[in-house]
Amino acid sequence: MTIHGGKVLRFNKRYRVNKMENCQVCGEQLKVIKDQPYSYSECGLDVVLLGITQYHCEKCGEDFAAIPSPQKLHRIIGIHICKENKALLQPREIQFLRKELRLKAKELARILGVSDSVVSRWENGKASIGEGNDRLLRSIFMASVNEISGIHDSSMSILDLFMELPLKRKEIKTPHSINLNPQEWLQAECGGTV
Ligand SMILES: [Zn+2]
Repeated sequence: MTIHGGKVLRFNKRYRVNKMENCQVCGEQLKVIKDQPYSYSECGLDVVLLGITQYHCEKCGEDFAAIPSPQKLHRIIGIHICKENKALLQPREIQFLRKELRLKAKELARILGVSDSVVSRWENGKASIGEGNDRLLRSIFMASVNEISGIHDSSMSILDLFMELPLKRKEIKTPHSINLNPQEWLQAECGGTV
């Protein structure tokens, strides 16, 4: 069985392989599972992927999943957070966006013009990001996605989103769940290498 250019993920450990027939832990032949939602907890968010081929080892209990184009997937998750989540950014979302921007907490603090410890406080839930920095971080992320892809169409406009946002948004504690199908990131015009 060939996994098309994808990464095979084992819980918290990543493998890049072309064939996935045997368990990478014990060598037993794997059971192929299709049409089961995959909880992509490795990304640190409540993301469920649909239509992902999964593998289960009945001998040692390990689970694997073949995730095509993980870079594109992460970009789509980031766009989803920026555009679909209207509440103030939550700690794990802030961390996700920062990591996708390849920034250290100190670097993001410098970019946003806040003191070093502030970003860490947002990410561990000790402080709220607030209206201004919420919008600024989303803008930076969306701008970087546009930069990478070279696409500047109006559907990507963060300005429309900001116009819709209420002035004083409340913090929500419930994680925002994201469900995605592979075609949503494989066919997305958001650049990246497959
Ligand atoms: Zn095994």
